[in-house]
Amino acid sequence: MPDEMKVDVLAVAPHPDDLEIQCGGTLAQLAKLGHTVGMIHMTNGEPTPRGTLERRMAETAEAAKILGVAFHEVLDLPNRELMDTLENRYKLAATLRKYRPRVLMTMYGRTVTASPDHYQAQLLCEAARFYSRLTKWDDRFGGYPPHTIDHLVYIPIMVSAEPLQLQWKFAVDITDTMDQKLAAISAYKSQFDGERAESILHRIRSISGANGGVAGVKYAEIFGADRPVRATDPLSIL
Ligand SMILES: [Zn+2]
Repeated sequence: MPDEMKVDVLAVAPHPDDLEIQCGGTLAQLAKLGHTVGMIHMTNGEPTPRGTLERRMAETAEAAKILGVAFHEVLDLPNRELMDTLENRYKLAATLRKYRPRVLMTMYGRTVTASPDHYQAQLLCEAARFYSRLTKWDDRFGGYPPHTIDHLVYIPIMVSAEPLQLQWKFAVDITDTMDQKLAAISAYKSQFDGERAESILHRIRSISGANGGVAGVKYAEIFGADRPVRATDPLSIL
């Protein structure tokens, strides 16, 4: 039986820098609160115009360190060609069984003007979450035993050409970790240097600030839940 570990939150996205941009503040906040958080980059993100594999992996490690997460892993699925195939579902489900998260987070929505990998990643995560709990199929998942993931949390893409149909949403106050989020994004110098860095940081501040305005805090990230957020004491979430 392979080594296993258990984590509270596993965040999964196709490219190194996706999670930092979309939910870096929340990942840092969760880690700060003492939760075990892992980041899974489904591909190594290369090739890109200014990146190299070695440089991108160093940036990925630096960003994870800045956010304070317990671990990160880069899977060997193909950048630019990520597809919701059975083989890829098995690979991702094996990773979910290996880390056994209570909560799975993944990007939500189609990036119609950018990489199609993001939507395929959503489909893969939804399928792999289901496959993770199935019995009598361990041979497909490297021998890892079944694991049921309690919650799938959607990270809506920041800018979408179409409305996102998220029925249940919640906001995380990232005011205390906003600087970590910006620093983690800045670690990707192969992707964001000079004007590009200025532009992405401006957009992140603006969007997080606008989300914060809606949520009644300075900066926030907004997520979708797979079912209504429950509370025995409603005041605990108000
Ligand atoms: Zn991406």
